[in-house]
Amino acid sequence: MRYHGTVIRPPSEADSYILQVTYGCSHNRCTFCGTYLDKPFRVRPMEEIREDIALAQRLMPETRRVFLADGNALILGTEKLTDILDSLASGFPLLRRVGIYANARDILRKSDADLALLRLKRLEILYLGLESGSAEVLRRIQKDCTPAEMLEAVQKARRAGIRVSVIALLGIGGTALSAQHAEETGRLVSAMDPEYLSLLTLMLVPGTELHRQHQARAFELMRPEELLAEMRAIITHTEGLSRCIFRTNHASNYLPLAGTLSRDKARLLAALDRALDQGPGALRPEEWRAL
Ligand code: SF4
Repeated sequence: MRYHGTVIRPPSEADSYILQVTYGCSHNRCTFCGTYLDKPFRVRPMEEIREDIALAQRLMPETRRVFLADGNALILGTEKLTDILDSLASGFPLLRRVGIYANARDILRKSDADLALLRLKRLEILYLGLESGSAEVLRRIQKDCTPAEMLEAVQKARRAGIRVSVIALLGIGGTALSAQHAEETGRLVSAMDPEYLSLLTLMLVPGTELHRQHQARAFELMRPEELLAEMRAIITHTEGLSRCIFRTNHASNYLPLAGTLSRDKARLLAALDRALDQGPGALRPEEWRAL
């Protein structure tokens, strides 16, 4: 397989064939994100993408799942995406589903008919980096998107039959905005009613604006027990969800939890309370955390 630079994918795509169709992220300005700092955004030529699919077809003919990287591959035009999805379908007869990272604006730029067509071509799940439901937190981290746009984007994708996995970031408001971040994230996720909610935990990356803010004492990193309390508050503020599979299985988290929010809220809160009572021994050691 041919890959350019750092390639990331959600934990649930661990068994998928990862196909880079873009390089980097077209936004690349979020203050906490260092993933693509050394990789300017570029659209990969179709010819190269077809060559990669042909190579993967020879090496992994039984591929059932594909994840389209990099950062926000949904920025590609619908025609190019359908071309890629058609190539995948003809290359992998057992193909079941294709996933992709998306920014809210990428979803909103597509028409309902575009999204329906992509769904028909097996684009089944979008991973959306919400980070926070708080307008103030989103403004400070330069997400360049409002909570209202995030909500509209998720609703639009779900109307097209595309499942949405929302990703929020513990600690991103720092100590100062933690309460606001937790409450507004819980409420916004409730309004979105997504199929999945994953929480990751902030890790400062040297070279990012947030790292600089932290060094200048303008941003306070939260302690593990404060982050668990923040997670507790997010879960507490969710309500009325149809289902919503909840996961904190990303390596950045101190405490891996899993459940279905509509059913397991009390169990998840009890697990958090136990971990808070037990202290550091119940948590993933700092040196095992990773992005
Ligand atoms: S967090 Fe997502 S949108 Fe923001 S810079 Fe990183 S990849 Fe791009």
